[in-house]
Amino acid sequence: MEHLKRIAKYFFREELTIRHKLVNVILGSALLVQIPGLIVTIVVGTSMAGLLVQVLMTCIIAFILYLVNKFPESPIPPLLITTIANIIIFPVMYFLCGGARTGMIIWMLFGSIFTWLLIDIKWAVIISVINFVMLNGCLRIEEHYPQYVQYLDTRNDEIMDTGMAFIFVTVIFGMIFKFQTYSYEKQARTLRESDEELRKLNEDLEEVNIRLASASEAKTTFLANMSHEIRTPINAVLGMDEMIIRECQDKQILEYANDIDSAGHQLLALVNDILDFSKIESGKMELHPVEYELFSMMNDCYNMIFMRAKRKELEFIVENDPEIPAFLYGDEVRIRQIIMNLLTNAVKYTKDGQVKVRFDHEVIDDEHIRLIVSVKDSGIGISEENQKYLFDSFKRIDEKANRNIEGTGLGLTITKKFTDMMGGQIRVDSVLYEGSTFTVEIPQKVADKGTIGNFAERLNRRGEGGGKSEKEAKEAEKRDKFTAPRARILVVDDVKMNLNVVRLLLKNTEMQIDLASSGDECLKYTLMKRYDLILMDHMMPVMDGIEALHKIREQATGLNAETPVVALTANALVGAQEMYLEEGFVSYLSKPVKSADLEDCILKLLPEDKIVRENNG
Ligand code: ADP
Repeated sequence: MEHLKRIAKYFFREELTIRHKLVNVILGSALLVQIPGLIVTIVVGTSMAGLLVQVLMTCIIAFILYLVNKFPESPIPPLLITTIANIIIFPVMYFLCGGARTGMIIWMLFGSIFTWLLIDIKWAVIISVINFVMLNGCLRIEEHYPQYVQYLDTRNDEIMDTGMAFIFVTVIFGMIFKFQTYSYEKQARTLRESDEELRKLNEDLEEVNIRLASASEAKTTFLANMSHEIRTPINAVLGMDEMIIRECQDKQILEYANDIDSAGHQLLALVNDILDFSKIESGKMELHPVEYELFSMMNDCYNMIFMRAKRKELEFIVENDPEIPAFLYGDEVRIRQIIMNLLTNAVKYTKDGQVKVRFDHEVIDDEHIRLIVSVKDSGIGISEENQKYLFDSFKRIDEKANRNIEGTGLGLTITKKFTDMMGGQIRVDSVLYEGSTFTVEIPQKVADKGTIGNFAERLNRRGEGGGKSEKEAKEAEKRDKFTAPRARILVVDDVKMNLNVVRLLLKNTEMQIDLASSGDECLKYTLMKRYDLILMDHMMPVMDGIEALHKIREQATGLNAETPVVALTANALVGAQEMYLEEGFVSYLSKPVKSADLEDCILKLLPEDKIVRENNG
């Protein structure tokens, strides 16, 4: 019994196809049938030749059974068995075992049908046609030359043989069909089960997807909130520090203050990078194209990098194609960010030698050019292997070698995303220990046909930047442009330190400044006094800036129904500006605010008769 089970297991093992299992069933059954067949043959006593054929058949079946299981992948054994059975065994048996009067025609029919079950349709058709010809041939030969047929001894033997053939063939087909039905049912059950499993898996995946999406949403909100929270204190730190730089005469303290200023700006840049990254990740990053002057942008980059390069004793060179159009139309802020990222990296990752930036252009059509900026350094370079990962988020190459160089691995990711968003391209050419060249190509609209000329010459002519240190440039920025002693302004912010920062930043304008630390306090002031301008924080407890603005407009005295109100807030999210303008603010300043921006904004909004300009007295 154990043996039988093991044999059955072997013949129906998992890796076999249904067709192969079927071949096993047929050959196995044929073998089983052969044994009683042999006994019957001996009992009824056919000729010696008949007996030999029966023995030969048993051997052939056993051999093919062996082949089928030895080479389960091969289509040849099934083809072999059908061909041998139909073309050799059955016709020979026809003549040796009693011809048409016995069960031979039933066997030949069986051979023909199982051909269709076992082999490809093309071969099955061919063998069936041959079968048909063979059967016809056998019947006709028997008709005309009955002496070639070895008939059984009695009519009773012939009837018994026919009966046996009928029973065996019925049993074999019965088993085949049963087996096929069983296999298909099993397969269908497995399919149903795996279908169910897949459905469950899909449901689980959907759930995971929803959870991931909400986690990513939560991450974006968290990053945005965190950046807001960090910007608020940086605002205070940088604002106070600026006051120290402006007013302090002590050289040592000025040095400390300058360090605070540079560290503060570094921190701010980091927060901005994280904010940009989260905006890009959530698909909320938008471009804001404007008309801009290329020279001014190049000059900004030059001023910002010049001192850093000088501190590391690196030569910093700016070259350009003088034929680039002077005025372009595109997202100036993001293009500057791209160039600055590349330049900052070039300086960061270069110990000695030079950093060179070159501006070129290619004409696309009458109205568009491709701005090509390449930043070349003689720094540590990047191996070919590592160049592949350069633009992956948070990926810092060669962490060990660069461990003393600060960075988050976000700069190039953001740079690449911005370049993609603008329909541009970025590429890198680098040789380890020799240096790198990063090249960006960004399509830009031409705003004016005039050309930029040679940057270095213009710089020298104007005596700007190159002749000036970073500190001197800052001093120039800080210069008070106006006073407005008759102007009244109200600043609203729940953080006392921020109120002080704004007050101190505007000290030299001599304006009359009131400070309110809540929406309620603000409403008390606006009920009694008319202001020329109100600077309003957004996020405040109890009553936020937007509600306060709406209430100011509805106050009974109507003193400030028309007063321009500027949103002064750390909310730097996408769409913030539009939202504030829609709510009724006239302008928007993002914290930490620079005194120059603040003064510019105030200058634009104050009534002209209250402004006393320094230049024209
Ligand atoms: P990080 O904040 O680390 O500088 P980036 O995304 O700007 O992040 O750069 C990713 C990595 O690419 C850096 O950590 C550095 O290994 C490598 N890299 C970028 N620019 C240069 C360069 N000019 N020379 C050598 N390596 C560079």
